[in-house]
Amino acid sequence: MTQRGYGGPLRYVQGPGVIADLGRYVAPLGARTLVIMDAFFWDSLRPELEAALSGAGVTAQFVRFGGESSQVEIDRCTAAGREIDAASVVGIGGGKALDTAKITAFNIGARIVTVPTIASTDSPTSSLGVVYTPDGVYEHVVRCGRNPDVVLVDSALIVQAPARFLAAGMGDALSTFYEARSNIESRSKNYIGDGYACTLAGYQIAQACHETLMRDGRAAYVAAKGGRLTGAVENIIEANTLLSGLGFENCGVSGAHGIHDALTVLEPTHHFLHGEKVAFGILCLLVLENRPPEEFDAAAAFCRDIGLPTTLADLGLTDLSAADMARVGQAAMLPTNVIHSVPVELTATAIADAIFTASARAGG
Ligand SMILES: [Zn+2]
Repeated sequence: MTQRGYGGPLRYVQGPGVIADLGRYVAPLGARTLVIMDAFFWDSLRPELEAALSGAGVTAQFVRFGGESSQVEIDRCTAAGREIDAASVVGIGGGKALDTAKITAFNIGARIVTVPTIASTDSPTSSLGVVYTPDGVYEHVVRCGRNPDVVLVDSALIVQAPARFLAAGMGDALSTFYEARSNIESRSKNYIGDGYACTLAGYQIAQACHETLMRDGRAAYVAAKGGRLTGAVENIIEANTLLSGLGFENCGVSGAHGIHDALTVLEPTHHFLHGEKVAFGILCLLVLENRPPEEFDAAAAFCRDIGLPTTLADLGLTDLSAADMARVGQAAMLPTNVIHSVPVELTATAIADAIFTASARAGG
């Protein structure tokens, strides 16, 4: 493969209180905007943001997000955007509100602004949007063709959320480097456009993501539990949101996400956050690729220290039958599963064996 490609958001701004500047970032994108806002912030933040947008000369239509990034919800938001001929769509909230905003913007050809209110996934920076059924079952991914024009990250707002979200974001971000390495070794394509080889920039970002987590992750978790915004928390918010987002989109994902997706065939895992399941998936990936034992131990210790699951029992999966595990192995082997970018030969049995072994080695 001779073509390498890189993509990312046009601008990323992070700091305490930056949400008050929303008007300044939306105004250059056009005079009319559709704002899709998480219900949780509808009463507390909307008046202030309406004032900020109108103060910048932007006419804003606010839509209260229904809670699921489903086709019905996307259609409703798309109709609302068309009605006002919105030049931009602003998503404010968690990953699903932002995914709905990105797909809505794609449908109406508008620019995109994402304002994450938690740092639990890397979706705010990416050009991908996920569609779920109205009951929350994964349906498919939409490639929106462009990354957000602006990602606005208010760290003072994010640190108010339960620390579990920041920890889950670290689980998602911890997969970035390991999965980038799988893709480089197997010469797989990234998620930019129709797929390219990753650039030096993309790989360096994935490495910086890993180094930042190892350096500041534990300290950030302690601070975030107390609702305190320290330098470590700022670094981890950037690692979870920007470094992880650029890293996965520019290098690709592999077994940690593939095993995450496969484990969702087992109902008990539905009670856990994306990044929590990905954390366990990382340990399975390291066994599957037979990486050095020190690497497994460092990843497992990190996850334990910030409260992420490292065993099947931690995910509520005790007494798994051989039939359960066969279902997981089969789900992992589906041609659409992202696990196929690992640089080793795969079978359903090899995947099941890696899952059991990772859990046992991590202590359960
Ligand atoms: Zn992820």
